Amino acid sequence: MKHMKILVINCGSSSLKYQLFLMPEGLNLIKGIVEKIGAADSFLKQETKEGKKLEIKKPITDHTEAFKAVVDAILDNEYGVLHNINEIDAVGHRVVHGGEKYNESAIITDDVIKDIEMLSDLAPLHNPANLQGIKAAMEVFSSKKADGKEVKHSATFDTAFHQTIPDYAYMYALPYELYEKYKIRRYGFHGTSHRYVANKALELCKRAKENTNLITVHLGNGCSITAIHNGKSIDTSMGLTPLEGLVMGTRSGDIDPAIIHYLIEKGLTDKEIIEMLNKKSGLLGLSEVSNDLRDLEKAALEGNKKAQIAIDTFAYRVKKYIGAFCAVMVKLDIIVFTGGIGQNSYLMRERISKCLENVGIHLDKERNKLVGNHTGMISTDYSPVTMLVIPTDEEEQMARDAYSLLMK
Ligand code: AMP
Repeated sequence: MKHMKILVINCGSSSLKYQLFLMPEGLNLIKGIVEKIGAADSFLKQETKEGKKLEIKKPITDHTEAFKAVVDAILDNEYGVLHNINEIDAVGHRVVHGGEKYNESAIITDDVIKDIEMLSDLAPLHNPANLQGIKAAMEVFSSKKADGKEVKHSATFDTAFHQTIPDYAYMYALPYELYEKYKIRRYGFHGTSHRYVANKALELCKRAKENTNLITVHLGNGCSITAIHNGKSIDTSMGLTPLEGLVMGTRSGDIDPAIIHYLIEKGLTDKEIIEMLNKKSGLLGLSEVSNDLRDLEKAALEGNKKAQIAIDTFAYRVKKYIGAFCAVMVKLDIIVFTGGIGQNSYLMRERISKCLENVGIHLDKERNKLVGNHTGMISTDYSPVTMLVIPTDEEEQMARDAYSLLMK
């Protein structure tokens, strides 16, 4: 078995998150983040698996500078874990949109870079930032390793897992030519997380993917839910963009599209509306308190009505989607909760599960409370559907993808 060290990168427009894994064990050696890239008060924070912490405050002008800072931090004599940059075998990058072309992770070539550039049209906030990270990493890791090999870069696409969704589930009932001309359809996101927890659930339940039906519920600041049959995504709640579907931290999820026209008539600009739907809606918009469920649980306990409405609307929407996805499968076997809210809030899981006995989902309240934020079963022994909590790890999945691409 060949061992490799794989650096995994998630690049935003002003941030760069990184983790280094020893594969195939999936052992996380170090993790860190560079924030406020391009600002005067940028900083890097890093922690090794032994808990050694490093914090560097210095102006970091762009993503290439950020990468250099990351490499220096990983190689740091006292706080790092490597002696030489050549020890890194591959770099795995998160890319949000892979369009209709990418149904799995890919080794990054010039053609892949061109595709990611072209797909920026569909993900203008994310793909350009992901690309900046790829180009910066390629620049910093351009020199050949001591053994003459080049460091390979791989891309893991958020949309790829959902490329198996059938046409009747990914099409919007709009004029067909909008799909032909502009590729307007459901793509779905969080694919890496749904795939990771689904595979873990199958392992835990000792089930083959064939003939197993799952619903994976990812509830974090962004939220989405996926129906999985034979190991393949057959429907998901996010759409052309991550705005559709569940109520999220600051995103509205599903709304009547006519509301947009109505608001334009009331004098709002399209920019204001899209900003509102993405950043000022969801838990934050409804509660007028916070986008963080912890704050809302506290406010609701203190009698804040809007916080209670936000919590109830959130839970109701998840329940509704679970019902819908039960209806597209012959029989549901497993449901998995993950993401910051899905993993941590036993109260939210309890709210969502109320009345779901109707579709064979029986929550064991004690188990649900005791599981904490760890992997565990939360259904009753007699529940036809096994309910699980599984912490997601998109980074580990990305490292696994890079490893298997390199082993091909
Ligand atoms: P994520 O995007 O997956 O990191 O999830 C972040 C969100 O998880 C936060 O905004 C909170 O709403 C939620 N969260 C994290 N920890 C808890 C907790 N202990 N109880 C309730 N919600 C939590």
